[in-house]
Amino acid sequence: MEVTIVGAGLVGCLLACFLARRSHRVTLYERRQDPRERGADRGRSINLAISERGIDALRRVGLDREVLKDAIPMPGRMMHALDGGLTFQPYSADHRQAINSIGRAELNMKLLDAATALPGVEVRFGHRLTGLDERTGRLTFETETGPGEARARVVIGADGAFSAVRARLQALPGVSFSQSYLDYGYKELTIPARGGAFALERGALHIWPRGASMMIALPNPDGSFTCTLFWPHRAFAELGDPARVREHFAEHYPDASALMPDLAADFAANPVGHLVTMRCDPWHVTTDAAVVGLVGDAAHAIVPFYGQGANCGFEDCVELDRCLDETGDDFAGALALFERRRADTDVIARLALANFVEMRDKVGSRMFLAGKRLEHALERALPGRYASRYELVSFSTTPYAEVERRVARQRGWAAGGLLLGAAGLAGLAGLGMMARGRRPGGLDKTDNP
Ligand code: FAD
Repeated sequence: MEVTIVGAGLVGCLLACFLARRSHRVTLYERRQDPRERGADRGRSINLAISERGIDALRRVGLDREVLKDAIPMPGRMMHALDGGLTFQPYSADHRQAINSIGRAELNMKLLDAATALPGVEVRFGHRLTGLDERTGRLTFETETGPGEARARVVIGADGAFSAVRARLQALPGVSFSQSYLDYGYKELTIPARGGAFALERGALHIWPRGASMMIALPNPDGSFTCTLFWPHRAFAELGDPARVREHFAEHYPDASALMPDLAADFAANPVGHLVTMRCDPWHVTTDAAVVGLVGDAAHAIVPFYGQGANCGFEDCVELDRCLDETGDDFAGALALFERRRADTDVIARLALANFVEMRDKVGSRMFLAGKRLEHALERALPGRYASRYELVSFSTTPYAEVERRVARQRGWAAGGLLLGAAGLAGLAGLGMMARGRRPGGLDKTDNP
């Protein structure tokens, strides 16, 4: 079958690998020029955390080793308090578990290499989709040399959060769409290597939780860290001149600001990105001429606070591959089945929003850290029976909706266990008192207060 994928980003390229392995011929249309020749775009987060769902998808097409060889494992979070105090919190009771910091551009280039090495895959760079007619399967493009055109029976939009393919679906009756922006934006800064070495602990995702806002930093193979500020939009606007920027950082991120020689220049030069959750339902339409579907951010863009957007998009490829197995490579049938994945993507969209509050506000508190230690103790005490939500989301491929069902069940029996424990203790105390001739719950005559 001939398949057209719009967008040769992370998910489009991986999907091309999956489809080529099923002997489909794939043409990817990408608005950018080939990043392997022209270098990557700036402004979009430079590195990202890949965890088990993403790795599992890469493993299925034999790419996990190649991708992970340049990754930096981050087995936990390092919290930076205002006074410079550091607290390391492992992500898992099993300290070998880690999420992996990977350069976005390098990952995209490796996926492009992998896809184009497969027979039947072609990428047309410099093609920005400008129009799509599902009734005829006609696609129109803007290219450096003028308008272009193509026809396709199967079109898959992997063109990101602001998808042009989805824009066409949204215009159709019966397609619901919503987008919800956070009042927060993000901006990237850099902590350069110091004398060729990492200026902070390399094996951690660093967080500066500051209540209403936060900064995080992920390590890069060259010894630098990419920092991302997540601030209310008005906070970015308020910091106009370089002196104010330096002053603000010295006050709120003193240990980091000492490591950022280019802080004020980077702050002025780097754009503020938006944080958005997008929902679209359904993700596909079928006509006599074509079937059009969506995957990755085009179908379900989420905020980045669980580090799951790309992982989830990679998992889409696994699920669509499974749907093709089930339908004998009938794309209309497979894209209809793929709609079942919404139950999972709705859950991770919600968890990602909730995790923002946890990261910016709670991770620094003693109560939160004690809760995490208790969770890890339970995981060690009840292996295979108790697993934290973070563990299930980041270090397993349990479907996101099942993660939530399991967490609810665990809470149920943990609460039941506590009640039983309390009842048991009360019972034992009662027996003890009776054995000593006392009434439970009160002083008897022989008690001397
Ligand atoms: P994109 O990566 O957006 O790729 C879309 C492609 O389509 C691009 O190449 C684009 O040029 C192309 N395109 C767009 N429009 C057109 C058009 N009209 N015609 C042709 N081509 C087009 N995820 C994680 O898993 N872990 C993280 O740690 C993480 N951190 C993040 C941090 C930030 C600040 C942000 C914003 C996101 C983060 N994400 C993370 C999410 C992750 O970046 C996305 O989920 C992922 O990039 C989605 O991949 P995609 O291929 O669907 O879309």
